[in-house]
Amino acid sequence: MTGAAQGIGFASAKLLREHGARVVIADIDLDAAQHAAAQLGSGLDAVGMQCDVTDEHSVAAVADFAATALGRLDVWVNNAGITRDASLKKMTVEDFDAVVTVHLRGTWLGLRAASAIMREAKSGSIINMSSLSGKSGNPGQTNYSAAKAGVVGMTKAGAKEVAHHGVRVNAIQPGLIRTPMTAAMSAEALAERETTIPMRRAGEPSEIAGVVLFLASDLSSYMTGAVLEVGGGRLM
Ligand code: NAP
Repeated sequence: MTGAAQGIGFASAKLLREHGARVVIADIDLDAAQHAAAQLGSGLDAVGMQCDVTDEHSVAAVADFAATALGRLDVWVNNAGITRDASLKKMTVEDFDAVVTVHLRGTWLGLRAASAIMREAKSGSIINMSSLSGKSGNPGQTNYSAAKAGVVGMTKAGAKEVAHHGVRVNAIQPGLIRTPMTAAMSAEALAERETTIPMRRAGEPSEIAGVVLFLASDLSSYMTGAVLEVGGGRLM
């Protein structure tokens, strides 16, 4: 699970752990990854690792660790993400590249590393974290919306490549979820966004984690290339 020291990734790792999985918390911040892992278990039940998803060797090291030290890699979640919101007038090339690189290269590196191991095992589930921003396009997020729409294309292409090896690749498009990523929004901005959601509230990380668990498990055994919207009815 990448970017799992906090937010949606941590909630997902916690739920998978509660359902018996051994989890690797792979995050750019080693201390945060180890602290998060310690909350979920000890020894090989929950391991914190430093991982920069933009670095191919870093991503490969996490996949190799799971396959060798843990003995198997059943589920891989490409969750790490960043935002660098700005209008087109103000967004820099660096803002654009940073967001596209974390989400697109990061997800692709995870997809490549995990599928290589899973196709040998003839089974596995890869879950990519997209966003409803990639469906609708959000002003101020030309970088993020492009990247998250790209994750959908990558999910479908990857799913078609590895389906006959028993490996499934699906995506989740969360709506507005209360995490450190959205904590920067003012209370007014959050409340205004909530009025646009049919369920009239932001979601909790645990409500994305439940969908991660579903896609990770055999309950979704006939699903691949699917994009699940989890946004309280927003943008349906
Ligand atoms: P979050 O709380 O900011 O957690 C993301 C984690 O990823 C952080 O621990 C972050 O570390 C880490 N990370 C950043 N860059 C990384 C890198 N290069 N390599 C490894 N880890 C890295 O975000 P979240 O809200 O839980 O979001 C999780 C995913 O859901 C993201 O892909 C996000 O785009 C997506 N999403 C979120 C929402 C929402 O409303 N929250 C909605 C739709 C989609 P630092 O904190 O040190 O940067």
